[in-house]
Amino acid sequence: MKAAQYINAQWLTGEGAELIRVFDPSQGQPFAELTSASTAQVDQAVAAAREALPAWRKVDASVRAGYLRGFAEQLEQRREALIALQMQNNGKPRHEAVVDVDDAIATFSYYATLADALASNPSPEVPLSVPGFTSHTRLEPVGVVGLIVPWNFPLVTSAWKLAPALAAGCTVVLKPSEITPLIEQTYGEIADALGLPPGVLNIVCGKAETGIALSNNAGLDKLSFTGSNAVGTQVMHSAAHCRPITLELGGKSAIVVFEDCDLDQAVEWIVAGIAWNSGQMCSATSRLLVHERIADALIQRLQSAFETLRVGNPLTGEVDMGPLTSQAQWAKVSEYFAIARAEGLQCVAGGKAWCDPGWFVSPTLYTDVPLNSRLWTEEIFGPVLCSHRFSSEDQAVALANDSRFGLVATVISADLERAERVAQALEVGHVWINSIQAVFVETSWGGTKGSGIGRELGPWGLSAYQSVKHVTRCLG
Ligand code: NAD
Repeated sequence: MKAAQYINAQWLTGEGAELIRVFDPSQGQPFAELTSASTAQVDQAVAAAREALPAWRKVDASVRAGYLRGFAEQLEQRREALIALQMQNNGKPRHEAVVDVDDAIATFSYYATLADALASNPSPEVPLSVPGFTSHTRLEPVGVVGLIVPWNFPLVTSAWKLAPALAAGCTVVLKPSEITPLIEQTYGEIADALGLPPGVLNIVCGKAETGIALSNNAGLDKLSFTGSNAVGTQVMHSAAHCRPITLELGGKSAIVVFEDCDLDQAVEWIVAGIAWNSGQMCSATSRLLVHERIADALIQRLQSAFETLRVGNPLTGEVDMGPLTSQAQWAKVSEYFAIARAEGLQCVAGGKAWCDPGWFVSPTLYTDVPLNSRLWTEEIFGPVLCSHRFSSEDQAVALANDSRFGLVATVISADLERAERVAQALEVGHVWINSIQAVFVETSWGGTKGSGIGRELGPWGLSAYQSVKHVTRCLG
């Protein structure tokens, strides 16, 4: 049984009631076991973070930058092991696991640079319109933060929270998903290797009970949560005693394809937007809006592209798409196939689920999906694309915005003026024009409407862990 709880720089066996079995989704078999943290251990982790806070927040930001660079270097040293573990536990194809490691490394390096910038100008002066006063700004750490993350990009989502929190001078308690609890253990191992002061980073593993114990803990100064809307809503209730919260939630994003596009290129971007990570992406562009003039030709090309994707075990051969990461997710996507059949949707590719062994589904395309279909409105979190035709730019924008979510969107058109105009009109946090979903640490991540509150990455990601203070002095 793995000692998976990292509290005050010590590795402890969980004392909670839950046994967590860690699976290889390509085989449907467990390969590791651990026990969850008890509520008392979660309290212990928050107390350790509280005790470590006064010294850590006083440390010069350039020293914190040094630790962050250390994290980046240590991740690089563990590259092969991290790639292998993500392939085994998430079912990611190798090339996707590589991208995740690179992303995590880039995140720590980037926030090291921002921490250095903080050190070089810790108290910028504020120009005042009234004479006789001076004022300067101090960006102080929010304090002790609880970080709760999901399983789809475990290394990356945790990096997006950990790196800016540590750069800002916060101390943290991280709760990984029970589906992928081993990947974030690496951050504890790196903290040990770097001699990070005890209590600055704590990791508690467990299921919902552990998340509830953490989000209800009154010792936290802030909560940052990434996950489903259902759980996000509960976490928001627990933040109701007036503490800041960041929520990164679900999506049902649109990819809008205009009639002037290069069809083959469009197919590549559409497939990437729904098949990457087997569609288990908050940002999956799962609603295809296609101009009626090119709809039939595009659907035909998409059908053959979906049918030629290689789906299989990434550990035994080169694949384009692995399994779904958990049996529960496989059951959920299978249920949507059943709903589609019951709704009489037109399936032109896929619609199949199999589990002998492992939890696989085929990349799936439904065409001319009615706007009130559950497959059109609900986040499926699998490689399931629904298409709908439009006849004008205004209609395309209206259809894209007709969602309770507002995370991302993609626009494909040879007319760049139009693409920019549409990008401006879309109610989302990030728009790609004629591109795959390229994510840069310098740009923000987060959504509007039901997709969440706040932003990660870029300087906004750092601000999420900072409290603004002004010191104003009368010169008279
Ligand atoms: P989830 O909400 O089930 O779980 C997320 C985390 O919350 C896990 O660590 C889980 O153990 C914990 N948890 C469960 N119940 C809890 C409770 N009552 N209180 C506190 N914590 C609790 O989500 P998931 O299935 O792990 O992830 C998939 C979801 O995450 C999708 O909806 C996806 O869109 C979303 N997501 C969003 C982003 C984004 O950046 N917007 C990124 C990745 C995933």
